Parts: sequence; structure tokens; C-alpha cells
Amino acid sequence: MTDIKKLDQEYVASTYARFPLAIVSGKGSLAYDENGEEYIDMGSGIAVNLFGYCDDVWSEAVSKQLTAVQHTSNLYYTGPCAKLAEQLCLKTGMKKVFYCNSGAEANECAIKAARKYAAETKGPEYTTIITLKNSFHGRTLTTLAATGQDHFHELFQPLTPGFVHADADDCEGLEQMVKENKTAAIMIECVQGEGGVRALSQEFVSCIAKLQKEYDLVIIDDEVQAGNGRTGKLYAYMNYDLVPDVVTTAKGLGGGLPIGVTMLGEKVQNIFKPGDNGSTFGGNPAVCAGALSNIARLDDALMADVMKKSEYLFETFKNSENVKQVSGMGLMIGIEPVRGKAGDIVKLCLQNHVMALTAGGNKVRLLPALNIPMELVEKAAAVIKDAFAEIGENA
Ligand SMILES: *Cc1c(COP(=O)(O)O)cnc(C)c1O
Repeated sequence: MTDIKKLDQEYVASTYARFPLAIVSGKGSLAYDENGEEYIDMGSGIAVNLFGYCDDVWSEAVSKQLTAVQHTSNLYYTGPCAKLAEQLCLKTGMKKVFYCNSGAEANECAIKAARKYAAETKGPEYTTIITLKNSFHGRTLTTLAATGQDHFHELFQPLTPGFVHADADDCEGLEQMVKENKTAAIMIECVQGEGGVRALSQEFVSCIAKLQKEYDLVIIDDEVQAGNGRTGKLYAYMNYDLVPDVVTTAKGLGGGLPIGVTMLGEKVQNIFKPGDNGSTFGGNPAVCAGALSNIARLDDALMADVMKKSEYLFETFKNSENVKQVSGMGLMIGIEPVRGKAGDIVKLCLQNHVMALTAGGNKVRLLPALNIPMELVEKAAAVIKDAFAEIGENA
């Protein structure tokens, strides 16, 4: 640990505040450090390891493709790329898929699609994209501009122009903003992650659906974190009365390898022409083979199991005297302490061998693998509950 930590601190750019833990191996929802100490992972690499560490089915799908062909460039066809696109479209009703390598890139593509659609149908001055306060859409200069949290913007000016931020769950305010601007699109996370693990209200999402029709807006739904079964449905919008025009996803889809996807609905399905966008690694066959096997496993039985574990966690924390509020959906859960800092609670959890995350609004954030065994959920929940009590007492 000390050697790894020293090397890392000397040579890796200091953009991360790492926990004092080096993970050398893992299986399912258990991770191990170099002393063989075991940890229950309630964060799954920030919603990435969909079926935990080194899941057998996923590993085999990736390995098989790795020894056949690992990359071709997008100048040629590959099976996994085409088959994954088919499955995503069949299961969502979206019409076409663009592949890239991260959530930010998937959102960049969505923004390009929306701007091009608005330019062609309404005029080139229709460039404004409305996003929500406390949203998180990525770290590139454009997706930072989209991100509705000022503290990310400082010192990186000028950001890409054309983004304004509306209050979540304020329908009138949103419509006013649509009218005041030359609006191309509204971009949302149905369940906000990084910004505080908050599910939008049904009424607000229905309001967005109404504006979508009335103003012919492109509705971009960022499901980089909430997508791929995490909320108990394949995509989070399926919990709402909304059919987005563009759905972006990344994190969990690849199960631990980088992939980003921009799904284009009927309205914008033919917006891109050759040369309008591209990605060298996008649609990588090994990554797509893993994603294809992941998507096939997100069936009703697994979703019911996700909801069972979700209910257990919601109940456990709702009924705890040290918890002010539990928010989120499915296995995307935010827990706000009555007293003390979420960061301190997460540190204490790690000392007690449970890996958890934080989110905006002083929340402890849980994003476990979808197949985490109930027994580990119970064990981890007990440790986290104790940490809330201990930190609360000393605050
Ligand atoms: C993580 C995240 C992103 C950014 O994804 P990267 O792969 O880190 O670029 C964008 N949107 C949401 C909702 C996210 O949670």
C-alpha cells in the first residue's frame, strides 16, 4: 500500500482524493486489499461493476471476444457492436445508437444531436439547452457547462455557451425558461446521482413530456448512472410517463470496461450524417460483447430482486434515528445524516470494511452491484447504520 500510494501520489495527477485502500482483487461484491483483507463493496466502482468484480458470465463474454478480435476501428463492421445496438433499440424503442467511451462523451453527442435538430427544424439561433440545478453531466468543458452546479465551473471559464439551469420540480419556472430562450432541448437525469441522489417527481417529468410536444423540444435523458437496471427498470425513464428523444448511458453498461452510448429516438434518428461525429474506440467489440451479455441478464426476475434489496435498504435507513432522509430509487440510494458529515461516515465505513460513496447534499450514496447477495446487503447495512450512529454522536 505505502509503495503504491507513494508512486501514485508522485506520478498521477492529483485530481482525485483517494481513500487509503489499494484493491488487488475482487469477486462479486467482495474486494480484497494486498493483505487479503475483505471489503463489501456498496459502490461498485461508481455504478460500473454491474455484476460485481470479475463476474464469470461477463468475463467469459469479454475474453471470448478478446481472443477473436479486440479492435477494428469504425471503418469496418463487427458483430458485437451491431448486436448490442439491436438489443438496446429493441428493449427501449430507440431507433439508432452512437457509441463512444464515457458518459461525458455520450452527453456531448446528445447535445450535438439536439443542436443539429433544432438548427434544421427551427433555425440556427435555437441553441439553448436547459438542464437542472444539482445535475451532473460530465467533466468536458461542454458537459461541465451542462452540469448545474456552480462549484464545478469556477476557474474553467469560458465554458461552452448556451446552457441555462432550471429548478427541478418547478414546471412553471421551466416553461418560462423555455419561452425566454431559443430553446433546443431539455436535458435531465430522471434520478439525479452525483448531485444528491434525487428522483424527479412524476408531475415534473410529465410536465417535461408536455413541453416536449408543445415546443418540439429534444428531451435528453442522461442515464449514465441511473440506467441499466439500477432503478429496477432497464432505464430510469421507464418509471415515468416520458419517452425521451435521446437517452445516454455509460457506467454500468460495460460492467467495468469503458463504453458510452447515445440512443437516438424517432425524432432525431437520422440527424447524423457521415462525419458528424465519431470515436476511435467507440463500439469496441470486446466491450460490446460484455455489454451484450449484461443487457441480456437484466430481466424481470433480476429487476424484482433489485427492488427487494432496495426496499430492505430504504426500510432499514428510514427507520434509523440518525437518518434525516433516504432518497433515490432502486439500488441508487442517498442517505442524509441528522448530524455529522457524510464524508466522515463513509471513511468510518471503510475502516469497518464497507465501501460506500458520498453525493451532494451531504448524502451517503449506495450503488451496489445489482446481483449483490442479500446477506452482504444486510451485513453492509448494519455497518453503515453503526457508522451513522457513531459519527452522529460525536458531531
Ligand atoms: C458519471 C456521470 C457522467 C459522466 O460520465 P463519465 O464516464 O465519467 O464521463 C455523466 N452523467 C451522469 C449522470 C453521471 O453519473
